[in-house]
Amino acid sequence: MTEFAGKTALVTGGSRGIGAAVAVALAERGADVAITYNSSPEDAAAVVKQLEAAGRRGFAIEADAASAEAVVAAVGRAYGVLGGLDIFVNNAGVGSLGMIDEVTLEELDRVLAINVRGPYVAAQAAAGVLADGGRMIHVGSAIAERATGPGMSLYTMSKSAVAGLSKGLARDLGARGITSNVVQPGPIDTSMNPADGPFAEAQRAFLALPRFGTPAEVAAAVVYLAGSAAGYITGTELTIDGGHAA
Ligand code: NDP
Repeated sequence: MTEFAGKTALVTGGSRGIGAAVAVALAERGADVAITYNSSPEDAAAVVKQLEAAGRRGFAIEADAASAEAVVAAVGRAYGVLGGLDIFVNNAGVGSLGMIDEVTLEELDRVLAINVRGPYVAAQAAAGVLADGGRMIHVGSAIAERATGPGMSLYTMSKSAVAGLSKGLARDLGARGITSNVVQPGPIDTSMNPADGPFAEAQRAFLALPRFGTPAEVAAAVVYLAGSAAGYITGTELTIDGGHAA
């Protein structure tokens, strides 16, 4: 598979879960891929091995999404080492649960720093180096379409912000032929939201397809948006949610 032969990509939060699946899927289709990670160097190294096993260049950069300095440096390093940047996947994020009267200011600031400020700063840095005709794909959440239960106000707000960021970028970057879209997963079986976790049954009850999705199913959507078939798609949402919003 050579759809992305000669292309370069950066995936934030590529050490585990959805980001790891996206990085591997891009490499399997010919791209050289950099990933960022925060707290899982061993997982990041294992993903790099998979990128190399696909016959591509791959490397991992430690960059806490809450640190603007680290994020900007990571984008610069990916661009420098890969020799360009064609595809930027804004994926790093954290979950957060809490009723409106329980969420502390510290938690509010932590989640917004990682899920909103980090993706904004990363997109800003990536926009500065992305090749004309390039692709930005942000990982939001289906929860931005339909909040299905209590305790999700902070996380939902943060993912709605990602959808807004994506639309604004589509307008800012369209003249350069760069597309910006948001992928909005429903429940996906990762360590953030395990299919056998305490909240899994309640989530399954909202789905038309009564199962969790897989990271590979989200990666397939990212691959589509990164490819030439999606050249006229920008400023929109691709929701992969098993019918969560149906
Ligand atoms: P995981 O917890 O499995 O993986 C999260 C990834 O993000 C890891 O690579 C992690 O790196 C990285 N990350 C976390 N915090 C930071 C940080 N401060 N700085 C840099 N990287 C960080 O989660 P998922 O794969 O499930 O989630 C990926 C994205 O998908 C997130 O944005 C999430 O909100 C979104 N999403 C997930 C859904 C689900 O049901 N799983 C549903 C909808 C959206 P490290 O381990 O090195 O810290």
